[in-house]
Amino acid sequence: MKIGELTVYAGGEFQKYEDAKVGLLTHGLQYGTGCFEGIRGYWVPEDSELYLVQLREHFERLAISAKILLMRVPHSVDELIEITTELCARNRFESATYIRPFMYKCAEDVGVRLHNVPDAFAIAAIPFTHYLDISGGVAAGTSSWRRADDSAAPPRAKITGLYVNSALAKSEAISNGFDEAIMLSHDGHVAEGSAENIFIVKNGVLLTPDPSQNVLEGCTRRAVIEIARNEFGLEVVERAIDRSELYGAEEIFFTGTAVGVVYVRSVDRRDVSNGKIGPVTQKIGTFYERLVNGREPKYRKLLTPVYAGRAVATA
Ligand code: PMP
Repeated sequence: MKIGELTVYAGGEFQKYEDAKVGLLTHGLQYGTGCFEGIRGYWVPEDSELYLVQLREHFERLAISAKILLMRVPHSVDELIEITTELCARNRFESATYIRPFMYKCAEDVGVRLHNVPDAFAIAAIPFTHYLDISGGVAAGTSSWRRADDSAAPPRAKITGLYVNSALAKSEAISNGFDEAIMLSHDGHVAEGSAENIFIVKNGVLLTPDPSQNVLEGCTRRAVIEIARNEFGLEVVERAIDRSELYGAEEIFFTGTAVGVVYVRSVDRRDVSNGKIGPVTQKIGTFYERLVNGREPKYRKLLTPVYAGRAVATA
């Protein structure tokens, strides 16, 4: 299906993507004054079902991002869940899906600020086709671009304009021959990848930067911490991590909506252990993959099925 023919939710109604336009001078476009979420849907053919992952957690984070930008999401989390499942059903998605809810300052005028600017809410959803071949792990490089600091522009909020920080780091990493960047914060501690949280295994303990380390508090991160503790009895410590701790780590992996759980095979051209996926990453990654495919009953609460009990609506 062409993108223009997809159904989106904008201006409080379902409409065609090609009919939902924004003007050239839109505040959010000019100044990056917006916030968004990225949500994955996993299509499971055996169940004829599309499972949307952590809708509630994503929408709760969107509400916080919006509040930081002096905006208010015009729906409750329950309403948002209903709108999102209806959107997927109207598009009749039967494949992996990527959902992008977002808010942006929609005034078409000039003047940078957050106050007294109207805002808009929309959700676009598309088939997810951005599969990277990450089966061989990721070669990561420490970026020369520092992660934005909470005192400048808060990474805890998923702010549109903040993604310049990620884009600079990502492109630098690629041009240096890496697959992904690891950004350090202003004080030199490990923050996160361009669109992933990071975990390391040290002496069998799972370490990840705590929320004060200028990271997005990832939904996958949260699920992985729960899985590690409750399913595998692992100790998980959230604390500041030095760059040099990366080099001696037994295992390193990234977590995120797009990548799931992916192992890092090298950092700054130093192999992580033997450069192969380690046992902790392996078991957590496998568990997460089963979870998002609806195969872990205890964690079904994290999934919203699109089609169960729904008469498929027409756009
Ligand atoms: N950090 C950044 C900067 C991100 O963009 C993302 C992707 N949303 C993540 C971490 C991972 O967050 P999540 O697990 O919620 O996708």
